[in-house]
Amino acid sequence: MKRPRRNGAFSIPFRVPGGPIFDGGRGGSAEAPVQRMGVPLYDVAVIGLGGMGSAVLAHCARRGMRSIGYEQFTPGHNLGASSGQSRMIRKAYYEHPSYVPLLLRAYDAWRELERASNTELLHVTGLLMIGGEDSAVLRGAMQSASEYVLPVEYLNASQGRGRFPMFCIREDEYAVYEADGGYVVPEAAIQAHLGLALDAGAQMNYGRAVDLDRVLEKASHVVVCAGPWLESMGLGIPLEIERNVQHWFVPSGRQFSEGQCPAFLIEREGFAHPLYGFPNHGQGVKAAFHGSGQVTHANALDREVHDTDIEPVRAALDSVLPGAAIDYVGGKACMYALTPDRHFVISSHPREPRVMVAGGFSGHGFKFVPVVGEMVADLIAGERIPFDIDFFSATRFLKG
Ligand SMILES: Cc1cc2nc3c(=O)[nH]c(=O)nc-3n(C[C@H](O)[C@H](O)[C@H](O)COP(=O)(O)OP(=O)(O)OC[C@H]3O[C@@H](n4cnc5c(N)ncnc54)[C@H](O)[C@@H]3O)c2cc1C
Repeated sequence: MKRPRRNGAFSIPFRVPGGPIFDGGRGGSAEAPVQRMGVPLYDVAVIGLGGMGSAVLAHCARRGMRSIGYEQFTPGHNLGASSGQSRMIRKAYYEHPSYVPLLLRAYDAWRELERASNTELLHVTGLLMIGGEDSAVLRGAMQSASEYVLPVEYLNASQGRGRFPMFCIREDEYAVYEADGGYVVPEAAIQAHLGLALDAGAQMNYGRAVDLDRVLEKASHVVVCAGPWLESMGLGIPLEIERNVQHWFVPSGRQFSEGQCPAFLIEREGFAHPLYGFPNHGQGVKAAFHGSGQVTHANALDREVHDTDIEPVRAALDSVLPGAAIDYVGGKACMYALTPDRHFVISSHPREPRVMVAGGFSGHGFKFVPVVGEMVADLIAGERIPFDIDFFSATRFLKG
């Protein structure tokens, strides 16, 4: 067996179209004088340029706001929550039907981002969800599908095996197939948003963790998109940071390739957490558990991948997709930023209205990236947003 690699199996060299990377395309210094005649230098400052922050920066800059983004590492680094080549996207959202309107918009927004950046980002592969009749995944998916009349197919075990012969579906299990399910590519999405932000005149400052109070001196609005580092920003949002490892395996044949095999999400008795994954699209079949229970902190993450991380995923994959994991390619440790109720925080801070938080994405945020960028820009511009996002308010955890 090949040994897992450390610090990420894959990385893409970063390229920003249309200009230099550091300090943005205006050629000015990001550390220019703080204010002119008492007027903040920037309309918006974004702390953290991972999945969410890059989208927020792009949307704000493209609306003509004077924008600056701060990132403690390099552009498109792979040390945060937004790397690993694939993030699942689906509409029949088992977590809660309230997400569905945002998801419907997300599909369009991903296509718009693809056109604007000339990059392929959204892969519709179909998604097979498998579980018991009363499993949270199947019940929740069917509830969202029925509330929003989404096209899904409910299959019993033999129907499921007939349609998707590569999957072992137990006699007492059912399957929900969503043809619109698939994945988006996180590294390419960040690169696309940073490129658009730069082209729209945003400044960017890399290589140093910034302090919220200092940034507040420079901008009228500050959006904190710090991912798992939000925990240490002193904003009082209750978060648990969880280590989760993504794995890639060499499959036995082409039946596990994109185009032949759908993405999958399996809630099975005996699995500690749901197993999810993606067909081979070049790097191998990817699989991981959605949740691990291993609490950590962003700067203390154990990035080494151990046999104890690999074997339970391999065993689970063997039981669901025999032949999908004949050899190990590599793994990557990543972090969930979990709120107590597993719903996001997208709102102004109850104690500092100039600070907006977009965090606590609880291991299921990436598919929403372009919508989050769009909504935060709308909120900063004082525009009405066409979604009910009250359930994302920070006031559920913090009083003013
Ligand atoms: C293993 C794994 C699998 C997942 N699978 C899915 C999935 O299938 N589908 C899905 O929708 N979602 C999924 N998610 C969740 C999704 O990836 C995250 O919700 C999303 O990436 C969070 O993005 P973010 O911008 O909040 O965090 P990040 O991308 O981590 O960005 C935060 C950024 O802030 C920077 N930063 C922090 N503090 C400072 C500071 N003080 N100064 C400057 N910079 C700072 C960091 O360096 C980092 O770049 C998964 C997550 C993981 C870990």
